[in-house]
Amino acid sequence: MEFGAFMDANPTTYHFVEAIAEQLVENSYIELNERDLAVAEAGKNYFIRRNGTNIIAFKVGSAWTPGDDPISIVGSHIDANRICLKPSSTKPAKMGYMQLGAAAYGGGLNSTWWDRDLGAGGRVLIRKGRAVESRLVRLPGVIGSIPSLAPHFGDIAQENNKETNMVPVIGACDDVKPDPSEADAPLLGKHPLRFIRAIARELGVSMNNIIDWDLEFYSAEKAAVGGIDGSLLYCSRMDDRLCSYTAIQGLLQSEDLPHSVQVAALYDHEEVGSLSRTGAYGNLLTVVFDSLFADADQDKRYQSLAKSILISADVTHAGNPNYSSAYLDGHVPLLNTGMTIKQLGYFASDGVGQAICEAISKNAKMPLQIFSPRNDTRTGGTIGPMISAQTGVRTVDVGIPILSMHSIRELTGSKDVELGTRWFKSFYDVASEYQEAE
Ligand code: ZN
Ligand code: ZN
Repeated sequence: MEFGAFMDANPTTYHFVEAIAEQLVENSYIELNERDLAVAEAGKNYFIRRNGTNIIAFKVGSAWTPGDDPISIVGSHIDANRICLKPSSTKPAKMGYMQLGAAAYGGGLNSTWWDRDLGAGGRVLIRKGRAVESRLVRLPGVIGSIPSLAPHFGDIAQENNKETNMVPVIGACDDVKPDPSEADAPLLGKHPLRFIRAIARELGVSMNNIIDWDLEFYSAEKAAVGGIDGSLLYCSRMDDRLCSYTAIQGLLQSEDLPHSVQVAALYDHEEVGSLSRTGAYGNLLTVVFDSLFADADQDKRYQSLAKSILISADVTHAGNPNYSSAYLDGHVPLLNTGMTIKQLGYFASDGVGQAICEAISKNAKMPLQIFSPRNDTRTGGTIGPMISAQTGVRTVDVGIPILSMHSIRELTGSKDVELGTRWFKSFYDVASEYQEAE
């Protein structure tokens, strides 16, 4: 499935991880289970998931030897800015409308969320006898929006309190009453009856069996290739499912190298600081290392990690022609051109990283672009420094350029998905050949 369609079909982190897992299974990757962790065997492909929001895929070379051979890792974040349904979302009816209480996740619910078509979906926990089943759900179509106030009202139209002015409207008043058969539904009273019924109907389950959920609102607008010459790709949630998606495609297309382990690690919670069991501070990568080095002495593990490289991938700021003074000459990433290394600021890259990335780009037959922030601006951090600190693995921060980062609608080049995929494939193909001078 091409990128735009993949993004449209998988709007929540849960859907995205599930779709990546399906793609991995189709390509003969075996799922490992943390509760019954198996030793990873040479010559096999694996993946492991945690909570449906953190997934690591890895390919073990047929002759990979702990201690002698390196691991080539791409880390990226798979969470995207959004608004989450509050644990009790019911709002009193106002002016004839039904509304749902929603909270910002990361940079969600910013000013770009006004008047957008919003979809709703996520993960639902369903009682199955004594067990609890987790199911994914997406309500079809547009479910609501956050209506702005016309400028005719004057100053009040500028008010943008996220708790009071930015509450999604999802329909007319919820004046329906529960049937006697619905009286025991656990979520009754916490969420509007019509909304619970819609979710239950979509899943084909009784609302009495819905225990709880993690649902969100997201842009329902579909991805589109456009611009006068088809050179632009308009899409939501590219920060950072763009690097996550292309890292996985690069892994799937990479050469089978006998003396390398190739890893793509996709993390949750980057937009809120990464400190969770599914974020980059979490230990799922350590679990992967444990399965790789289960039969090796501890020193072999450190020897391999000392020879390894980690690419921390997160979208970067493409040059915006309307704000050219925000950028530094010589450090302006262009769309449709190639991967960008991010240097200085909060980034983990250095001159050695630059040399490695130059070689990867050359092999991928594209230029390596550079981004570095002005001294009088700040850029957001990403997962590179924390994984680097945890594992001791040399880390380089790179990113595919996009415009409008953290807007509900982002923009990249229509060639950038292919360029990103090609660059990650090149990394997996050549990184193990890199030997740093002592
Ligand atoms: Zn990001
Ligand atoms: Zn971000």
